[in-house]
Amino acid sequence: MPPVFDVLVIGGGPAGTTIASLLAEKGHSVCLLEKMHHPRFHIGESLLPMNLPLFSRLGVLEQVDAIGIKKYAAEFNSLKTSLAQDIFYFSKATNNSPAFAYQVRRSELDELLFRNCQKKGVTALEGITVTSVDLHSSAKKIQAMDEQGKAYEYNARYLVDASGRDTVLAQQLQSKQKNPKHKMAAIYGHFDKVTRRTGKDAGNISIYWFQHGWIWLIPLKDGMTSIGCVCWPDYLKTRLDSLDDFLLQTIKLIPELSQRLNYAQLDGPAQATGNYSYQSSIMSGDDFLLIGDAYAFVDPVFSSGVYLAMQSATRGAELVDQVLNSTTDNRLLIKQFEQSVKEEIKAFCWFIYRFNSPALHKLLMSSDEASQHPVKQKLKSAVISVLAGDAYNNSKIKLPLLAFKILYLVNIALEFKENWAFAKFKSQIGE
Ligand SMILES: Cc1cc2nc3c(=O)[nH]c(=O)nc-3n(C[C@H](O)[C@H](O)[C@H](O)COP(=O)(O)OP(=O)(O)OC[C@H]3O[C@@H](n4cnc5c(N)ncnc54)[C@H](O)[C@@H]3O)c2cc1C
Repeated sequence: MPPVFDVLVIGGGPAGTTIASLLAEKGHSVCLLEKMHHPRFHIGESLLPMNLPLFSRLGVLEQVDAIGIKKYAAEFNSLKTSLAQDIFYFSKATNNSPAFAYQVRRSELDELLFRNCQKKGVTALEGITVTSVDLHSSAKKIQAMDEQGKAYEYNARYLVDASGRDTVLAQQLQSKQKNPKHKMAAIYGHFDKVTRRTGKDAGNISIYWFQHGWIWLIPLKDGMTSIGCVCWPDYLKTRLDSLDDFLLQTIKLIPELSQRLNYAQLDGPAQATGNYSYQSSIMSGDDFLLIGDAYAFVDPVFSSGVYLAMQSATRGAELVDQVLNSTTDNRLLIKQFEQSVKEEIKAFCWFIYRFNSPALHKLLMSSDEASQHPVKQKLKSAVISVLAGDAYNNSKIKLPLLAFKILYLVNIALEFKENWAFAKFKSQIGE
């Protein structure tokens, strides 16, 4: 008879390793199964300032500092507005969120998080894929397989799905739903010899809006740069050449970005991810939980994925600990947990769904105009708090954000023709 763990976690990315570490610290026996071997490639290299307290809590901040490059700001560039560039420095956020974040190679970040949870006593195994789960028995039965095809069974009182985009439980429960409001796809790759900004700005993320969507440029510590294009699927359907050539041609559509790549070379093949926006209609049951991308993913534009994954894991650890230690009804706790996760995602969604709209461009890109004006500064600081990952329960930004949203509507009214054309385009592509 295999041992019964208190908790079994599917997936050893940021969400899985965070919840496993925190539950092991609380004295629970935890088993984590990861289908790959670390270090392994993963997209999602730009982090948020609010990741820093989470790294501190896990005791890995120094290690993250050693592999990361500091990102003091998010820089927005537009081909669509008269003002070409605006920079949002995290030090200007409304609350006291950290003044910088990190850009990291995920192979390195995820490996250090994985080794950290092993050090904390988690039975964390690599090369083991969970194939199915029996949710109906009181001790959950988890079927898994190693790379040689050998089958294993694990038993646990509580199950956490942190399997990322594989969405193991949501697939099994048939609860995964494509996001009808957002249908973008991404092509990305790593480049050598891309020109960086200078001084303190060298580690900033650059975002470029263009006619087919937007492009990220993320500098990494080893000199490489991650570049990805997030486009409407119709544009991707026009591809006739290889993925590599298509990525390079797309970059050439933006003159300033193209110049930064004058001497650059693609390092390894480009990759693509389509239909990445989804949500599960079920987040939890009495003795199971879906966290991070296993529950939902919306969009990479505000670099929120890793933060949301680790934050839901941190709150999830509190919930699982209380459920395992109590004999009473936990429905209220579960409801509160679900609400907090949904609200945190929602804070980003308002901006994500409007990110490509002319009205939001104009507002974001004009935030430096008359930047000495205290009202404008307040609005910009509130937006920076969202970009830093500090929107949830931040009462200081509620009013400024409301004012920003009203200004957005005013902008739509003032530039009705342009915004109407954009709304029509979105409805044509089914968003
Ligand atoms: C194009 C794109 C760009 C992005 N850019 C950013 C960014 O700049 N910043 C950011 O913060 N986020 C970004 N993200 C999002 C980010 O990648 C994810 O939100 C984040 O990795 C979620 O962490 P997680 O732990 O939930 O899942 P993951 O990191 O995906 O980890 C899940 C783990 O589970 C394992 N697994 C899967 N199935 C099984 C199974 N059956 N058995 C065992 N193990 C299994 C996987 O191998 C994996 O290691 C981006 C996403 C996309 C699509």
